[in-house]
Amino acid sequence: MKKLLTGNEAIAEGAIAAGVEVVAGYPGTPSTEVILNLMAKRKELDFHIEWSVNEKVAFEIAAGAAWAGKRALVTMKMSGLNVASDSIANVAYSGCNSGLVIFVADDPGVHAGMAEQDSRYYAKSMIVPMLDVASQQECLDYVKAAFDVSEKIQGPVLLRSTTDISHTASDIVIGKKVELEKREAHFEHDITKYTKAGAALCMAQHRDALDRLAESLKIGDSYITESGIKVNETHFGNTKYGVIYSGAVEGTLREVLRRFQIEISWLKIGLVHPLPEDRIKEFLKTVDRLLVLEELEPLIETEVIRLAFQIGKKVEIMGKLDKTLSLIGDYSFTDIKKGLESLYQKKFAIENNQEIIEDTKKLQVKRPISFCTGCPHRGTYYALNKAIKNLRYKKDEIIITGDIGCTILGMNKPFESCWTEVAMGASIGMAQGFKWAGIKKPVIATIGDSTFFHAGIPPLINAVYQKVPLAVIILDNGWTAMTGFEENPGTVYLNETDTKRVDIVNVCQGCGVEKINIIDPYNPEESIKVIEEAIEYPGVSVVISRRECALQANRRRVKLNKFKVDISECTGCRICLNQLACPAMIFHPKTKNSKAFMEITADCFGCGLCQYTCPTGAIEVMEDVE
Ligand code: SF4
Ligand code: SF4
Repeated sequence: MKKLLTGNEAIAEGAIAAGVEVVAGYPGTPSTEVILNLMAKRKELDFHIEWSVNEKVAFEIAAGAAWAGKRALVTMKMSGLNVASDSIANVAYSGCNSGLVIFVADDPGVHAGMAEQDSRYYAKSMIVPMLDVASQQECLDYVKAAFDVSEKIQGPVLLRSTTDISHTASDIVIGKKVELEKREAHFEHDITKYTKAGAALCMAQHRDALDRLAESLKIGDSYITESGIKVNETHFGNTKYGVIYSGAVEGTLREVLRRFQIEISWLKIGLVHPLPEDRIKEFLKTVDRLLVLEELEPLIETEVIRLAFQIGKKVEIMGKLDKTLSLIGDYSFTDIKKGLESLYQKKFAIENNQEIIEDTKKLQVKRPISFCTGCPHRGTYYALNKAIKNLRYKKDEIIITGDIGCTILGMNKPFESCWTEVAMGASIGMAQGFKWAGIKKPVIATIGDSTFFHAGIPPLINAVYQKVPLAVIILDNGWTAMTGFEENPGTVYLNETDTKRVDIVNVCQGCGVEKINIIDPYNPEESIKVIEEAIEYPGVSVVISRRECALQANRRRVKLNKFKVDISECTGCRICLNQLACPAMIFHPKTKNSKAFMEITADCFGCGLCQYTCPTGAIEVMEDVE
């Protein structure tokens, strides 16, 4: 049976087909849809699936399940791997009893706005085998293969994808569901394997991890998946030119080779750690000029140069180290063509249809990155800026640290509030650093609810313990909204739930915060007053700005009063638009027949903020929704 699936959908299908029994993860583009797809089928799937509070916890849940004999999958984006790495590194030394697969999605080209981190290096540093997918079919096949290898070597296996594969679709052969024997949960008491109590134990576990890695190469180098894909594959052409490649470049490389009818030898590497050194050496013996194609860091290229030196073969090797290709971004058709042109030392002519290019440019929509219509964060940053002004500080003298998620959009116009964005929860830690560095003026940290649960609690405890005067604003919209509206421990709006809500107020009280206030960001007057007090408070103060994400509220058919502009009262001053940049507003400039005026469209969600900003009282309730 064939299905049109994105890479992430294929991974979800692969997990089901592989007989997975526990799935956990934390949302993060480009990995989120794996669990989203499983969640959508939750009722028909007879296994546990959860959004955990962060990636480290998610991994520990999966590892615990795998130690107790169940097949377990954990999902995350590359930054999540940083969070989970502490536990992964230690479990990798211990190994596991059942299949344990860690899915991580990297983002070359920065489609999701974080560092272009290359997760492949984690595989090396943690002694964990890693499969790197090159197509949507491989997403499905490699999940099954990863569980298979993991159980054969009795250790975790990393599975890596990138945005290009995870977020695009192709026809996939689904294949058969793996029939596993029924496994009862069981965990053996064995401190030599499951603890790190003593140098001798740790070194024995290190040796075991290296043995597992060697075993994974024996299995993986000749592995052929159910649909016939060779994980590592060599093709010897009748030529001295060669390409070694891995990952998402495969589709585009094949397109360039087909388009220009280039005959070349190639070596595809699906198991990127450990690398198939013997296979690479055999390949090197047959070529004089070689291009290494891999996105992000020159991990394979560096090893290929080492191996060429080891066997004493003179090969001209092109890639990133000689600057033929860039370390930055994902590789387009043009990039790969350019690489092959350097390899062949000639140009491959391409006919540009200028008309099509121009037409395509016209279709591009340019829009600023801003908050959605009715977004509660708009009200929070509006009130924060007003509070700073009321306290007679200049806008550019109060440091406001920002955090990951929708809340960071407060760095953009018109608010320009957030000064920093580092990592989950870092706004609260960084703010303390600014204070200890000697910043005399107030420092304010802003963070979303999901990010607070994920990594904001330890730095808040630290601020309380160290008595750092700090105002923390938690923008609590009830959802992990930016990645696709996943639930988090504070979500209260689920219709059917088998979870228990954790209230941020109680958490902050438990952390020792003495000044905690809740504001409604749709009530600017009250919000400004409360934020002013929080900024002036001599200790740690927390303001919880609580209002459900407008898109989610809209989906749940929450109705608020909509607003309109009385054109006779409107002076066309644009104050409302300039201060809020609400997408529901359209400004009509002065014409021969009409004065300038503002219009509020049917998209209005009814937050009411614009009414507060209008100096002439031109904005009024359109319909009264009781
Ligand atoms: S009330 Fe005003 S600011 Fe709020 S959504 Fe409607 S137009 Fe936008
Ligand atoms: S609605 Fe009010 S704030 Fe907006 S342009 Fe008109 S007068 Fe100015």
